[in-house]
Amino acid sequence: MTADDGLLLTGGLVVDPSSGNADRKDLLIEGGKISRIGAPGTLDLPGVVKRHDARDRLILPGLVNAHTHGHANLMKGVAEAWTLEASLTNGPWLAGTRDPETIYLSTLLGAVDMLSKGCTACFDLVYEFPRPTKEGFKAAAQAYADAGMRAVLAPMVADQTLFQSIPGLAAALPQHLRDTVGQFDLASGEQTIAAVEAIAAARSDMPENISIAIAPTIPHHCSERFLRDCIDIADRHGFAIHTHIAESRLQAVVASKTYGRSAVRYLADLGMLRPRFTAAHGVWLDDEDLDLLAQHHCSIAHIPASNFRLGSGVAYVRPMLARGINVGLATDGANSSDSLSMLQAMRLASFGARIFTGPRDGWLHASEIIRLATLGGAKILGLESCGQMKQGACADLVLFDLGHVDFIPDADPVNQLVTCADSASVTDVMVGGVFKVRDRKVVSVDLIELRGRVRDSVARLSAATGQARALAGQLEPHVVAFAQSMSDEPLAIERYIRPGRK
Ligand SMILES: [Zn+2]
Repeated sequence: MTADDGLLLTGGLVVDPSSGNADRKDLLIEGGKISRIGAPGTLDLPGVVKRHDARDRLILPGLVNAHTHGHANLMKGVAEAWTLEASLTNGPWLAGTRDPETIYLSTLLGAVDMLSKGCTACFDLVYEFPRPTKEGFKAAAQAYADAGMRAVLAPMVADQTLFQSIPGLAAALPQHLRDTVGQFDLASGEQTIAAVEAIAAARSDMPENISIAIAPTIPHHCSERFLRDCIDIADRHGFAIHTHIAESRLQAVVASKTYGRSAVRYLADLGMLRPRFTAAHGVWLDDEDLDLLAQHHCSIAHIPASNFRLGSGVAYVRPMLARGINVGLATDGANSSDSLSMLQAMRLASFGARIFTGPRDGWLHASEIIRLATLGGAKILGLESCGQMKQGACADLVLFDLGHVDFIPDADPVNQLVTCADSASVTDVMVGGVFKVRDRKVVSVDLIELRGRVRDSVARLSAATGQARALAGQLEPHVVAFAQSMSDEPLAIERYIRPGRK
């Protein structure tokens, strides 16, 4: 069917993220939007429409993943005990030696992962080592278009290596490794900025539902001049800006050493904070950082699975929401969270909010988590008509089976959506009024064929990246030990519970 066909979803238990309420409703889908919404049987229907019996379904706006990395999906399961700094040490082989076919397959695999688990749109920070290419970017965009997802793609860029960006790290390496990393080169900032400009110039060639942003990866991995160039590009092209901030305790310490202030204060002074600025992670933000982000109407991408998996701490979301900061929920890439399940992200956001000692009003309610996973993310992507359940909203919808064990008994389906539901209860997913998952199968992609192509691609990559991977293996213990020792330096804030610490 096409998006222009009228389709009536009848009698579903419809969740409105704005209110957190769930009520039985009929939804009329026309032209890719929810054209009408009303109590069952009350819509006065124009002519003949197709009907989809949804009486045994819970219906939610499509989940929006506010932060992921399409390049990382071939690395699912390889990083069992990595910290963030271990992950960054392995970055060159994780994202290097890619041809457009590999980038396409990696991105498509992630899109299938997300779609099949109820996610209809994502913000993808696309990394190519040493710098982005027009061809790679086009391949990533095509993957989302072929899967049928909406996506904002941001070239993730920097002009300094990990070893240049952490004070004292290179000097702490054994001599032979210090010499080796001294030869690392991310290409000049000018070349990288030129590559981003080339991608921006081709924006009109992007497939439908795909748009572009810019992602200076981590502030201290970028020189001030480079960051100013990124701001200039965002200003000229109207791009959103997205960057990792205060993800690990080490990053907060490094910002203090490098800038004499936090990364947020530094970026505020540079003029980077703005309504379409998103700080990813924000685990180690203090009150003044949050005040600045609120004053500039910025957003934060909350990414609990990644923070847990890398041992980075847990972002404290309540003070963000209390200041009116828009918060979206996200999975991160497979190199730091393996699964791209927004349903797992919801559960972890709910439970992770309870790790902080203090009164329980710091916890997050199920209805708040659902808002983060829909409206919050949609705002970060600039998809103002998505993530909502109302007339005129985009018809990006996910249907859950109320007969699945996750919803038996159906004591409180909205709460169960957060605390019980996993992908097994997702039956159908619609983007722009068109089914992309039907009867639990992604209709746009042949998974068996994809599996074979991915297997071949991973074999090719393993052969091509062996040397870089071996070098990362030598560097990793030194980097992790150095990062751990620097992480223990005093900070004004603490964000996680450590046994024995008062
Ligand atoms: Zn990330």
